[in-house]
Amino acid sequence: MEISHFRFAASLAKALSMAKIQTPQPVRGTQDIFGEDQERFSHVVETFERVRRLYGFRGVQMPVFEPTAVFARSLGETTDVVSKEMYSFEDRGGDSLTLRPEFTAGISRAFLTNGWQQHMPLKLSAHGPLFRYERPQKGRYRQFHQLDAEIIGAGEATADVELLCFADQLLQELGIADGVTLQLNTLGDAESRDAWRDALVEHFQAHRMELSEDSQDRLERNPLRILDSKERQDRPIADSAPDIDAYLSSEAKDFFAQVTEGLDACGVAWTRNSRLVRGLDYYRHTAFEFVTDRLGAQGTVLAGGRYDGLIETLGGPATPAVGWAAGIERLGMLLAEAPQASLELAILPMGDDATVKALSVANELRKTGLSTEIFGSGKFKKRMARANQAGALAAIIIGEDELASGKLQFKNLATGEQTGLDVAEVIEEMWELKFSDDLDDLDSELLALEQDVKSTGDID
Ligand code: ATP
Ligand code: MG
Repeated sequence: MEISHFRFAASLAKALSMAKIQTPQPVRGTQDIFGEDQERFSHVVETFERVRRLYGFRGVQMPVFEPTAVFARSLGETTDVVSKEMYSFEDRGGDSLTLRPEFTAGISRAFLTNGWQQHMPLKLSAHGPLFRYERPQKGRYRQFHQLDAEIIGAGEATADVELLCFADQLLQELGIADGVTLQLNTLGDAESRDAWRDALVEHFQAHRMELSEDSQDRLERNPLRILDSKERQDRPIADSAPDIDAYLSSEAKDFFAQVTEGLDACGVAWTRNSRLVRGLDYYRHTAFEFVTDRLGAQGTVLAGGRYDGLIETLGGPATPAVGWAAGIERLGMLLAEAPQASLELAILPMGDDATVKALSVANELRKTGLSTEIFGSGKFKKRMARANQAGALAAIIIGEDELASGKLQFKNLATGEQTGLDVAEVIEEMWELKFSDDLDDLDSELLALEQDVKSTGDID
């Protein structure tokens, strides 16, 4: 008995060790972002972090999961996100949690549970991963990433304008504003929206049988959504539906006029799209999307609007607010070229002693702000080629001679020129190399200024 037991265990172990281990595959719709895509991603986030400071937005870190009620209540039970796209699960304690499908609802929850009313009007920004169970395709994933900006506690149209200027400047600084259009609409106040909704229902009822199955369903649950249906058979009926303009209260009209005047004053180009409705229930007044035709079907890169009713749906006091979110991946895809990796200095040591020296030199150079990499192994020619490929401006070669003399061999990779320098001289030389163009510009500006002053005779 003992022996057969032992034999069985031994043969089982052998079989297991021989069985091919299957590598687990990534979850559908997730991405492992690396290389050029990662450079694009970082560039988008870094630009956002810089611009949001110019506009006085404070950063926040938010939980990736929230009680399901945070989203179900505020986004509206009948919206696509809540009815079809949420990753909801019961945790070990039996609570229903949801991986955040957007930032706004969680930030509104945080606003209430932390008593952030004291900071109103509060300008917040966030970025990070979001989760939606959608059909994955180019520019559409199940885990994707957004930039997010919100102004909570500001009911004036100037808040909408400032927020849109922020979005516009972000796109400009990313160098992608040219191919992107700001489409703007108003959904009016509650009164305007209800009157318009009734008119839409009447119009769609009259054409009920011509609508797609989805839109017939929307007619019951969320008739506004029929307006931005992508089904071809819905388009003529959606396009001939009444505009909101006839139903706007005079307050709603005034508000929209203030937004458009503000945008004009700031030089932000926009076009009216009276069909634009956002997918979530909470929008009021301003609704907008920055769209491009360069990304196929996934053409919306940044979208948002005013959500004056949302905080009440979470049990808070009536609080006006406005915000937007932008897909980081979609912005990254629009960048003309991936930002260059910014290696400045390459060090090529020859031999073990030189490698130790290389480490200490690299350390010193990095502390002065120079990005430095050691190309330590392989044939010298190959290492030099890799340094060039990485975009290094100069290389430092350390061999026995250099160790003996204490001077480093410094090679300008653009000109091929070589000189013996100590570390302090390398630093000086590098700053010259990095900023020589800027310095030349400054020089010629100074020269021009000097001539200007001379010719006007202000100074003798
Ligand atoms: P879409 O109409 O493309 O589904 P949406 O109206 O659902 O967009 P929002 O909830 O307004 O999108 O999100 C704002 C931005 O986030 C979008 O404009 C887009 O850039 C990005 N985004 C939304 N869903 C995804 C996704 N599944 N994958 C990648 N990016 C996304
Ligand atoms: Mg969507």
